[in-house]
Amino acid sequence: MVHLSAVLTPLCRRLLHARTRRWVPARRCNLSACSSKFVVSQMHPIWQEPLAVPGGERQSPIDIAVRRTQFDPRLRPLQMRYDPRTCQQIWNNGYSFIVEYDDTSDRSVLQGGPLEDRFRLCQFHFHWGESNAWGSEHSVDRRLFPAELHVVHWNRDKYNLFEEAVSEDNGLAVIGVFLKVGKRHEGLQKLVDALPAVRHKGSVVEFTKFDPACLLPENTEEYWTYSGSLTTPPLTEAVTWMLMKHHIEVSHDQLAVFRSLLFTSAEEEVQKSMVNNFRVQQPLCGRTVRSSFNPFLQGVPPSPQ
Ligand SMILES: [Zn+2]
Repeated sequence: MVHLSAVLTPLCRRLLHARTRRWVPARRCNLSACSSKFVVSQMHPIWQEPLAVPGGERQSPIDIAVRRTQFDPRLRPLQMRYDPRTCQQIWNNGYSFIVEYDDTSDRSVLQGGPLEDRFRLCQFHFHWGESNAWGSEHSVDRRLFPAELHVVHWNRDKYNLFEEAVSEDNGLAVIGVFLKVGKRHEGLQKLVDALPAVRHKGSVVEFTKFDPACLLPENTEEYWTYSGSLTTPPLTEAVTWMLMKHHIEVSHDQLAVFRSLLFTSAEEEVQKSMVNNFRVQQPLCGRTVRSSFNPFLQGVPPSPQ
């Protein structure tokens, strides 16, 4: 059988030309940021130059210090309306694997929560570590998780394209979900089964009928939100982050398949495992992290009527 990626790759490369520009391989971590004890790998593979942070006042990721978060009772539940038929393909961009969605219509939309506008789903991806002790980009009270899911949306009420929204205020909305190692995640397995086909950098494979809502925790009403940036180049400060309080569980074997992917293309002599593909944490710079739930009421039984 002809390998599907062999057929799709040239076509998708053309189709994805505009999208590949989102992840320009242009920057390297600055050395002081990379001295974090959690960065055990060499430099980030897509950052090749000293890192110049645009703006720098609202960069991501950050640590969520729960005691300093501010409960905001006006924060409504998020409303995700995703059509699995908008799912198109997975590609290995040399830093993570990206599951991409057709975002030319309003078939997969996020609204509510802290958002005033409607945001179209365009892709999701993960960040993970080489060990279960780290891998997430955000942390909660300095606690890191083995991996973190990012579901990326752009503001369709204010902009015409992702490429426009990515550099504008209020352009993007990203849902973050922490992954813990535990029992196998049934929803994730279809994706895990497809990953060997995108082992090398630059490979693309068709992937359809996948609803990213199956990767969200059951309770999506409890979340933290703050204003931040992309955590990969161009690092633009366009993102409203919504980090789920509740994590999801995946098995060690499922995460092992993530770690079996490669940063490198098939032609390269030395192959490098795709692990530790997270950005180091950034200063809060006076920002407020709001929560949709009151952390001080957790575990208190409801009062009698
Ligand atoms: Zn991300």
